[in-house]
Amino acid sequence: MTVDAETRMKFLYTLRSRGVTDERVLKAMEKVDRGLFVQGIFAPHAYEDRPLPISCGQTISQPSVVGLMTQALEVGPRDKVLEIGTGSGYQAAILSHLARRVYSLERHRELARSARKIIEDLGLVNVIVMTADGSKGLPEQAPFDRIIVTAAPEDPPAILLEQLAEGGIMVLPVGQSDRVQSLIKVRKTADGLDYTELCDVRFVPLVEGVAQG
Ligand code: SAH
Repeated sequence: MTVDAETRMKFLYTLRSRGVTDERVLKAMEKVDRGLFVQGIFAPHAYEDRPLPISCGQTISQPSVVGLMTQALEVGPRDKVLEIGTGSGYQAAILSHLARRVYSLERHRELARSARKIIEDLGLVNVIVMTADGSKGLPEQAPFDRIIVTAAPEDPPAILLEQLAEGGIMVLPVGQSDRVQSLIKVRKTADGLDYTELCDVRFVPLVEGVAQG
């Protein structure tokens, strides 16, 4: 983070007060300058706890929601993580500090390109950003220890659950795009799937197919 000490302290204080208490997650979030992922007129608001517009009509998620999702994902240093919905690349950059390898899929080529550039410039070599339809997952790299979906499907996609390793965790918002959605944590055990509802959230919808143009 290249911001001043007061802004940084306020940012971390807000994260803590909204329930992000895992020290590894807070440390990772302290390392990643959100200002790099927000462009133009919204850049001065990068350290506020709110979602902001990015290109292609999408949004960078609210920092406290990023923190809560990352915390719920319980990422370990040996984990191979799949993210669906790269967007700005902010969440992927945070995951790169916690995981062994991060695959991040984005359906908008322009967003994937710009996220890849920022992540490369930061020297985060364990992140691979791909333009792809994330609703299909990434079968050639499955199974994944952790899967995080940052766009909302109506229900947890069966294809993604299949690509989750046993003992793995998937965190995702579910629900209709014009309503309040629930953030869900799914744990895959030898006996099946355990679901926990975490909180209400609002995400852009998971849309099938790679965007044209
Ligand atoms: N994690 C992002 C925020 C994502 S916004 C960040 O840190 O900035 C959700 C993103 O999911 C959008 O960029 C949208 O284009 C993407 N998305 C929606 N459906 C998708 C799909 N089927 N495959 C891949 N990306 C998808």
